[in-house]
Amino acid sequence: MAGAVSSGTGKIQVKFLVDIEKKKVVFAESGKEFVDVLISFLTLPLGTIVRLLGKESSLGCFDELYKSVESLDESHFQTKACKNMLLSPLSDAGTLCEDLVVRIDNTKPRRIRVCRQPKCVKSTLYYSSVPDVPCGQCGEHLALGWKWSKEDRKAKDDGVFVRGGMSYAITNELQVMPTSTDSFLFLLRDMGIEDATMLEDRTLQLGSEEIKNLLKQILTSDQPLTALIFNPCHESTRKDESIVTMNAYVSPETDSNPDPNLIKVKLFVANANQSVVHAEVGEEFCNLLFSFLTLPLGHVVKLLGVRSSISCIDNLYRSLKFNLDDCMNSDEIRDMVVSPRLPPFFSCTNPLFPK
Ligand SMILES: [Zn+2]
Repeated sequence: MAGAVSSGTGKIQVKFLVDIEKKKVVFAESGKEFVDVLISFLTLPLGTIVRLLGKESSLGCFDELYKSVESLDESHFQTKACKNMLLSPLSDAGTLCEDLVVRIDNTKPRRIRVCRQPKCVKSTLYYSSVPDVPCGQCGEHLALGWKWSKEDRKAKDDGVFVRGGMSYAITNELQVMPTSTDSFLFLLRDMGIEDATMLEDRTLQLGSEEIKNLLKQILTSDQPLTALIFNPCHESTRKDESIVTMNAYVSPETDSNPDPNLIKVKLFVANANQSVVHAEVGEEFCNLLFSFLTLPLGHVVKLLGVRSSISCIDNLYRSLKFNLDDCMNSDEIRDMVVSPRLPPFFSCTNPLFPK
C-alpha cells in the first residue's frame, strides 16, 4: 500500500468510501501505514503540534501559550535550554516514529550534543538532546553533534505500532478497527447503508502536506475525513461537547495558613460579568502551565478521562483500547501509545506528568 522511498517522506495510499450525494466520507480503508500515522498523533507533545501547524493549531489556548514562551526573554527561564525544551519538546516515541512512511514531526530524536573539549569527552561525556545545555564539567555549551545509531526493527512486515498483513477501516469520526470483506459489509449495514453501489471509491496518495492537513482537520472538525476530502480550508466545525470543568477552591486573601501543596493564583475579576480579566501567579503556576507544552496528546486524553472535548481524538484513543488491542505489535508499544511518557530528562516533579 505504501510507496515509500525513504523513511518519513513517502506516500500512503488510502481508499475513501464517499457518499457523493451527501458529500460525506463514510469510512476509509487502509493498510498499517495510515493507522500508524494516526496513532503517532497521540505521541506528539502539544508544543510540537502547535509548532507543526504554524501556531494555528486551534488546540484550545495552546497557540497563545506557545507564542508566550517564544516571546519571553531567555532571562525569565532557568536556562536557555529550558526555553528550547518547551518550544521543541521531544517525544518518547520519536525514535520509533522515524520509521513512519509519512513523518510530519521534523525533530531529530537520535541527535545529541556533547562537549567540544577532548578532556570532557574522555572523562565524563556529558551529553544532551536539547540545544544550549552547558557542559557539567567545563560549563561550555554542548555543541558537538553526535547521533545515536539506529536499531533495525525486528519484524519488517509489521508497521511501527500495528501489525501488517491486515486491512483497517477508519470511520469518519476516527474509530479504527481491523476488518475483512465480510466485516466491511457488516460495517456498512451498521451505518444504515444497505446499497453500497451508492458509494464511490476515491483513492488518494497522502504525503506529508495531506497528513499535516489531516492533523489540523482532526483538531478542528468532528468529521475529519470528510473535511480532508471536501473542506480542505481550515474552518472549525467541531462541537465542544464535553468541556472539563474545574472546581477551584477560593480562599480569602487573609488566609494565614494556606495548604502548601496548593498553587496560589490571584484572580482579577470584572464585577460586571464575573469574567477573569487577568491573574497574578508565582513561578509554580508558570512552570505548570508552560510544562503542558511537553505533554503528549495521548497523555492529555488519558488524564481527562477520554473526554478531551476533541471527539475524534477520544475515538482514536478508545479504538486502541477496544478495537486494536490484538493488532498492536507488542505490549510495550501498546503502553507507549495508551500511556505516552515524556522522554528522558523531561521528567518533572508534578504528579500530572507521565514518568
Ligand atoms: Zn566540557
